[in-house]
Amino acid sequence: MQTTIGKQVSISGVGLHTGYPVSITLCPAPPGTGVVFRRTDLQNFEIEALRKHVSRVVLATTLMKRGVMLSTVEHLLSALYGWGIDNLYIDIDSMEVPIVDGSALPFIEMLQEAGTQEQPAERLFLMVEDTIRICDKEKFIEIRPHHSFRISYEIDFDHPTIGHQDLELEITPQIYAREIAFARTFGFYAEVEQLLKSGLIRGGSLENAVVLSEDGIMNGQLRAPDEFVRHKMLDLIGDLSLCGGPVVGHITAYKAGHALHTRLATELARNPNLSRRVRESRLAAMA
Ligand SMILES: [Zn+2]
Repeated sequence: MQTTIGKQVSISGVGLHTGYPVSITLCPAPPGTGVVFRRTDLQNFEIEALRKHVSRVVLATTLMKRGVMLSTVEHLLSALYGWGIDNLYIDIDSMEVPIVDGSALPFIEMLQEAGTQEQPAERLFLMVEDTIRICDKEKFIEIRPHHSFRISYEIDFDHPTIGHQDLELEITPQIYAREIAFARTFGFYAEVEQLLKSGLIRGGSLENAVVLSEDGIMNGQLRAPDEFVRHKMLDLIGDLSLCGGPVVGHITAYKAGHALHTRLATELARNPNLSRRVRESRLAAMA
């Protein structure tokens, strides 16, 4: 069945790029709503969390509708998708989702506090029927038919703390909450100055990202030795959520990022021959 949350929950923080203080409130929404942001600072202007509103994906995923922007949506959307929430209003009083600790864990904790409410409508899955592969030099992302939602992710950074990492997981709400949600975003100190000069990461701090120096980590301990590849999976799930329904298929990603993730979501949403909409009851019967 489709799901929303049991009760309203709120959180406050700052935007990573703007540095602006911001509060968000998650509110239950009726069946068929999908995930919809409401800019409470702009007379509740609504922006649906859909691929057609994606405008920039360089350092973060930004939505734009009729000139109204909403930035850094991917970690919150990842938590909602990973936790299996179909319908939700997200009231937000600024233009950027709070970065909180740089992971999706605070959002999962909100969802756990709010509880899940099943709704009298069937979920519609996006079942992959043909393989799609998108390449960019040696980087690639691929999705192929599979009976569940599975991700294999591999990264390779020329940095002693990261190096080569790969992980394969079957994505369920429990596995998402335990294995992926905690992984924080990461960045290289050498790039920080340039980003600040460009007017970005004004809300960045050692509290909301893993910051890497040339040969190590500048702020404390990792939450897992392979926290980096786990965060890439977290980003991928958030970007994939924009294709508008729970995906059934196996994704393999190699050194990918927001740009390739979003291109995959676009291909899936745009090309009806590659996938088919399947009702939950039908999917259960096929398993
Ligand atoms: Zn991220």
